[in-house]
Amino acid sequence: MKTVLKNSQVGDILLEDGIIAKIGGNIDSPGAEEIDCTGKHVLPGVIDAHVHFRSPGHEEKEDWESGSRAALMGGVTTVFDMPNTNPQTVTIEALEQKRALARAKSHVNFGMFFGGTGHNLEEIKKVKGIVGVKVYMGATTGQTVDETSEFMEKLLRDLFESTEKIIAIHAEDEELIKKHSETYKSDIAPEIHSLIRNDSVALAASKRAVHLAKKYGGNLHICHMSTKKELELLSKYPEVTCEVTPHHLFFTVGDYARLENFIKVNPPVRSKNDVDALWEGVRNGLVSFVATDHAPHLVAEKQRGYWDAPAGVPGVEFALPLMLDAVNNGRLSLGDVARLMCEGPATVYGIRGKGFLKEGYDADITVVDMDISREVLDKDVVSKCGWTPYAGMTLRGWPVMTFVGGVLMMEGREIVSGNKGKEVTW
Ligand SMILES: [Zn+2]
Repeated sequence: MKTVLKNSQVGDILLEDGIIAKIGGNIDSPGAEEIDCTGKHVLPGVIDAHVHFRSPGHEEKEDWESGSRAALMGGVTTVFDMPNTNPQTVTIEALEQKRALARAKSHVNFGMFFGGTGHNLEEIKKVKGIVGVKVYMGATTGQTVDETSEFMEKLLRDLFESTEKIIAIHAEDEELIKKHSETYKSDIAPEIHSLIRNDSVALAASKRAVHLAKKYGGNLHICHMSTKKELELLSKYPEVTCEVTPHHLFFTVGDYARLENFIKVNPPVRSKNDVDALWEGVRNGLVSFVATDHAPHLVAEKQRGYWDAPAGVPGVEFALPLMLDAVNNGRLSLGDVARLMCEGPATVYGIRGKGFLKEGYDADITVVDMDISREVLDKDVVSKCGWTPYAGMTLRGWPVMTFVGGVLMMEGREIVSGNKGKEVTW
């Protein structure tokens, strides 16, 4: 199967047998299908390195079919799924079960995170082909301060010492969260979420993780980094990588009044001051990449009161349009978008053949039209959750074609192939 993307910004691009076979100039390849890309921009396929596709266990919120179709609509060609499914991905058996689901249903390429619980070190030493190990620093709820920090130190020490893989951390300090929850326990305003989980909560956990990575020599990645203080911390440790989510770039605490618990997310949305620092961080390279932390919940669940509404927002469909709109608004360059959404995640996790438009690389490609303007509407959402916190925003710059392994999968907001993705390799 051969396709030539004609007249891209780097000349013609020949896709053959799932690989980028040739780039540049005028390519005349007999028998190849020609697709005109005049006036559009061709990017390496977008990699979303942090999604929760909910399957197995919570298919009412999302599954590999719906989640991967949403990804295609958003120009995303590869996703890395987090381990907090049911069963949790903390045993090789559970990992194989999830892999079978993804192979059967996912229209995009995928990679799997494995959970580090403090009780599954032997499995982690044996497991093959994972993106990294995810650790929730708030996982030891119910223990005293000393036990918590000792448990976490042992858990991270064991991981740093026994695997070369990246240890990706959800950095929030459980003890501080509990203390702050007590303070606000009789309040029900969604705004308290950003007070209970304030920037000290994130900084305390990030500091501890960085300290332990230095002490034991591990590969540390901070997930969904959200505060100015953490950025200042990480500026001193260039070997520690981090990601930022679209919701932390596009929402502030001022948005609770309109969106209430629909923007309840962990870590929470922050102040304008933090948001400005995050934008500076994505521009100056301190932030390694943008990932969505796509975490769909049903509308009825988000409509519950503060204490009962689950945390998490969907994002895989609109991350790229949001960033392209930022390009059109002069906040970023298109090169920044490629660095943050394609090259960054491929480089940090060392994925083979992805993240760049290069001959010999996988033919995962996202074609964008920087001039299309469209309002984001809940009714257009492909994710099973059926809503998005970005509804009502008019964004300029949208993906118009998504190729996975050389196969055109999405064109003009239509899914045009039932092809399946593959698991990433190293
Ligand atoms: Zn997450």
